[in-house]
Amino acid sequence: MKTPLYKTSARNLAHAVKHGEITAEKIVSYFSKRIKAFDETVGALLLDLSDRALEKAKKVDQKRAAGKPLGRLAGVPIIIKDNIQIKGERTTCASKILKNYVAPFDSTVTRFIEEEDGIILGKSNLDEFAMGSSTEYSAFRATYNPWNLRCTAGGSSGGSAVAVAAGLSPIALGSDTGGSVRQPGSFCGIYGYKPTYGRVSRFGLVAFGSSLDQIGPFARTADDIALIMEVMGKPCNQDSTCYHELPEPYLDELDTSIQGKVIGVPYSLFEGKIDSDVRKVFDEAMAVYQSLGCKITPIELPMVKYSIPMYYIIATAEASTNLARYDGIRYTDRSKNARTLEQVYEMSRNEGFGAEVKQRILLGTYVLSAGYQDAYYRKAQKVRTLLIQDYNKAFKNCDLIAMPTSPTPAFELGAIHDPVTMYLQDIFTISANMAGIPGLNVPAGFDKDQKPIGFQIQGPQFADGRVMRFAHHFEKATSFANAFPPSFDKEVN
Ligand code: GLN
Repeated sequence: MKTPLYKTSARNLAHAVKHGEITAEKIVSYFSKRIKAFDETVGALLLDLSDRALEKAKKVDQKRAAGKPLGRLAGVPIIIKDNIQIKGERTTCASKILKNYVAPFDSTVTRFIEEEDGIILGKSNLDEFAMGSSTEYSAFRATYNPWNLRCTAGGSSGGSAVAVAAGLSPIALGSDTGGSVRQPGSFCGIYGYKPTYGRVSRFGLVAFGSSLDQIGPFARTADDIALIMEVMGKPCNQDSTCYHELPEPYLDELDTSIQGKVIGVPYSLFEGKIDSDVRKVFDEAMAVYQSLGCKITPIELPMVKYSIPMYYIIATAEASTNLARYDGIRYTDRSKNARTLEQVYEMSRNEGFGAEVKQRILLGTYVLSAGYQDAYYRKAQKVRTLLIQDYNKAFKNCDLIAMPTSPTPAFELGAIHDPVTMYLQDIFTISANMAGIPGLNVPAGFDKDQKPIGFQIQGPQFADGRVMRFAHHFEKATSFANAFPPSFDKEVN
C-alpha cells in the first residue's frame, strides 16, 4: 500500500508536486482537514492559516502549470511557532500582552520557506515568550502529547512538536534557547534540531535570550531536517549574528560513512541521575553506533553541571532587557485603567504578563542591577567561557558527543509545580546553547508505558551536517522514526 500523506516526508511531498503526481492545493486541503479533525484534541495551534495557505498553494500549482521551475519545498505544509513573524498575521508569543499584535514584516525564515514554495499552514502554541518546558505556561490553551493525552508534549515549542508528531504537517519550526526544540522532540518521538548559533537568521523571531536563541526544525526524518536546514540556514543581512557563508550540502552528505568515527559520552554527568528507561534507550542507541563501526569513548564536560544556574542568570538578564519593549506604548495592549504614564507601564505589564514571565523579568533585572552585576552576570559569563573550553577540549578526542536529551520521558500535565524542578528538565540541553553548538534529538525508543524517548547528539560549531549524518545512519539502522501515535495513525474523512 502507498504511504498515507500524513506519513510522507516533506522531501517526497515536494517531489510528488514537482512531478505532477499531486497538487499543492490537494496537499494543503488534506492537512488542513487533519487540523480540523485533531487539533481540538491535541491543542497544537494558536492560529489556523488554512485560507492563506490554500491561496499560496494555488499559486504554486499555477506556477507549475505555466512550466516554471518549482522550489525545493513545493507544496510542503509547515507550521511555525507563534513567536516567529509572518507579515499581516498575529504573533502572540502565547502572551496576553501581545494578543492583538500583528506582525508588520516577515521573518527571514518564513521568507526563505515561501521563496522555495513551502506553505505556512498555521502558528503553534508555546510557553509564554518561550519560557518553559511543558507548554503549560501558554496564556491561551493547553497542548497534549499525542502519545498520551494526559502528558505534556514538552516545551516551550510543544505545539510545533505535536503538529509533526500527530501528522498535522511534516515539518514545523520552533525556537530553542535552552532546549525548547530538542526536549519536546524527545517527548513526542520526532527529530528536534537546534542549529549552530548563527546558522539560522533570528530576524523576525521574538527575542528571548539573544545570545542563545536559534530557530530550529521538527521533522520525522533526518532527510527533512537536512532539507529545511538547507532552505533556512542561509546568510541574512538583517541579523548581525547570522553566519555569512552558505550551508554545506547537508542532504548530499547524509550517506557519507561514519565508520571509525568516535562518539564521546559524558557518562559522569548523568550516571545514576536519569530515569532507567532513558538510560536503557541511550545505551541501546550507543550499541547501534558500535554496530555501525563507531567507537564510544567516555569524556568529561565538568562545567555542564552548572548549566542551570548559568542559564537562569544569562537568559533572564537578556530576557529582562528584551521584554522591556513591551510597555503599553508600542506593540502591546494598554491597560484600560491606566491614567498616568507610570501607570501605563506598570499596569499594562502587570495585566499582560503571566507569572513565569514576571518571575524571569524580576530575576534578570536583579542580576543586572548595580552591585550584583559582577557577582552574578559577569561570573556567569566567565563560567560560560569555561564551558566552551570544555567542549573545545572534548572535541579534540571525538567527532561527536552523545547524551540523553531529557532526564525523563514526558511527565503528566500539572505534575510539576516547583519552578526549579521544571528548570532541571534542561540540564542536558542548555550547554549546546551556551556553547553555540548544534544539538539534535534523535527518536530512539519508548518507556514501559509506550512514551517516546530520544537521545541527543551534539557536534562542534558549524558541524551541522555531521550531526544530521549521524542521525541519518541511526535512522537507517533502526525503525523508531517510523513509529506513529496510534490514535492519530488514521486517515480522516
Ligand atoms: N525550558 C527553558 C526555559 O524555560 C528553555 C526554553 C527555550 O529553549 N525557549 O527557559
